[in-house]
Amino acid sequence: MRPLSYTASATLDEAVAGLAAGDRLLAGGTDLLPLLKADVLRASRLVDIKRAPVPDDIRRVAGHIRIGALATIAAIADHPLLEGPCSLLRQAARETATAQIRNRATLGGNLLQRPRCWYYRNSRSHCWLKGGADCPAIEGHHEHHAIFDDSPCRAIHPSDLAGCLLALNAEVVLFGLAGERSIPLREFYQPPEDERRKETVLAPDEIITGIDIPELPDNWRSIYLKAMERKTWAFALVGIAIVLQRSGDTIDEVRIAATGLAQIPRRLVYCEQALAGTAGTGDQIGAARDALGHGAHPLPDNGYKLDLARGLLERGLRTLLS
Ligand SMILES: Cc1cc2nc3c(=O)[nH]c(=O)nc-3n(C[C@H](O)[C@H](O)[C@H](O)COP(=O)(O)OP(=O)(O)OC[C@H]3O[C@@H](n4cnc5c(N)ncnc54)[C@H](O)[C@@H]3O)c2cc1C
Ligand code: SF4
Repeated sequence: MRPLSYTASATLDEAVAGLAAGDRLLAGGTDLLPLLKADVLRASRLVDIKRAPVPDDIRRVAGHIRIGALATIAAIADHPLLEGPCSLLRQAARETATAQIRNRATLGGNLLQRPRCWYYRNSRSHCWLKGGADCPAIEGHHEHHAIFDDSPCRAIHPSDLAGCLLALNAEVVLFGLAGERSIPLREFYQPPEDERRKETVLAPDEIITGIDIPELPDNWRSIYLKAMERKTWAFALVGIAIVLQRSGDTIDEVRIAATGLAQIPRRLVYCEQALAGTAGTGDQIGAARDALGHGAHPLPDNGYKLDLARGLLERGLRTLLS
């Protein structure tokens, strides 16, 4: 690991002051520190934000549930405010990593964790996402990669919570040198492109302070289903988050998001359209299954993800509609 200095910021202004000059924010450190040790990322200084006024609580704020950026994944897994319509977040948190990591890892860090692509995590590979010319995964090992090709990078965003928050129409609360702003999570994540080789529009001088989830009436239900290579301590091959509301037998509104299929958490709008206003019969669920492949271009070794995703979607819908 290269030499670097460490400081703990006492204010938000202090935390963001040196970001544009190469400081890196340290929260739980479960993603950042291994990447620094492996020389994949570099920093001149680590700025520990655990003593800054970045919230770590989960509370009601004017029609929203606000989760502080420093809330741990363990806290999300057990919090009573996240029962009911938001319970998919608790499910996703419980299936994230291990108990030790859940106790340390924070929501902000989870949303900003870097790809698990093996080329990305190898310091000798200078792939496209790290500023190089090509993506070696396309011709190489890509079993875990994206089946949608919205970016020259085919790595998936690994966060389970991000998919759930997308289905909940969450907003990200940011603080930077220009002050505070909130943006919808669906705008915060953008597929990496030539001029912005990362998965978010977070400005170089910004910090996440929290996530706002609009409160939903009690007749909304939700579920998160995750397919893994083994039953525990694994990233999602595919994760499907569903949030829906019914009146009688009719699905009034349904929001479906996927982890593991694209470079960023992805709303499956064609599946939503196949179900909204219907009773969710077997045929209508079948139409949603078919719609899941709309626009997908799997690579030679990851087409299995489409079948996995369709299976999870059907299981999730049948559970919520039963
Ligand atoms: C063995 C293992 C298994 C895992 N399994 C899963 C899994 O199944 N599902 C899943 O979703 N994740 C999984 N993870 C990822 C894990 O959830 C993340 O490593 C963790 O959430 C990162 O949070 P952190 O607080 O440790 O972030 P850090 O490592 O401290 O930071 C990560 C990045 O975010 C930045 N950052 C942190 N907080 C903020 C903030 N508030 N504002 C701006 N920037 C910030 C840091 O500068 C850094 O770039 C796993 C990790 C490991 C090691
Ligand atoms: S998928 Fe992305 S991170 Fe992986 S090698 Fe290709 S460009 Fe790099």
